[in-house]
Amino acid sequence: MAYDRALRRHVHAGADRNLLIVTNAYPLRVSAWSEIPGLMHGFLGRAHGLPPGLFTIHDVRDALARAGEAPRSVAAARQVHGAGVLSPEDVPLAREDGAGVVDGELPEGDVWVSASADVVLTIRTADCVPLLLVAPRARAVAAVHAGWRGTLGGAVEAALAALVARYDARPEDVSAAIGPAIGGCCYAFGGEHLAAFEARFGPEVAAAWRHEGSASFLDLRTVCRRALERAGVRRDAIHVLGPCTAEHPDELHSYRRDGAYAGRQLSYIGWRSGA
Ligand SMILES: [Zn+2]
Repeated sequence: MAYDRALRRHVHAGADRNLLIVTNAYPLRVSAWSEIPGLMHGFLGRAHGLPPGLFTIHDVRDALARAGEAPRSVAAARQVHGAGVLSPEDVPLAREDGAGVVDGELPEGDVWVSASADVVLTIRTADCVPLLLVAPRARAVAAVHAGWRGTLGGAVEAALAALVARYDARPEDVSAAIGPAIGGCCYAFGGEHLAAFEARFGPEVAAAWRHEGSASFLDLRTVCRRALERAGVRRDAIHVLGPCTAEHPDELHSYRRDGAYAGRQLSYIGWRSGA
């Protein structure tokens, strides 16, 4: 398959990370959010993504720069599929040059919240759900890495709770953007987990599952939407952007599809300085 050859060439090319075609569609952005003064956000596609394996903060800044963003500070965590909350207001961020700071040396957590100017919160995904939240009146934002473990572990609720507790945000004022993730079309996922999801999110979450013979498929973005609604976010304030990661190799990285060769999508949100 032509794609496999392209991927191998891409991986072996090493430094030549811009080999793949840049499409005009990315970064994906919520058009209504352009009216929120000072907000910057986006879901970057493969063309702006991170390479497979270890990365440095410099790689993250590089990807943001290629998407036209140059914030003073960049927040990135070692993601562990949990519900731990971090804020750049609490943890020291990597040095400005960031050259030597790799994944393993970053703070550990899957949820970022912030109300600080000129700081960008970043999440890396390659099938898991990247979720961005904004509470315009409270001038607060959040970024969540929501795979199945983190979602079941309460990552979405933890983000909302932190926005409420730290910045006095109200869930009904929060707007959410759910970015590209593996879809229920492709994500084979054990039906034995359904009971645990129903216990947390109610019986309606069963709608996120599709059963085909003995196989089960999960649409994680539907679970995230359900989690947001249960946490008080209005249905019409939830935006879903982008296609299934597994089905669009030219646009998006996918761990299920590419395994160890999978790079990562970068998703980001923050406030510009002086806004
Ligand atoms: Zn799919």
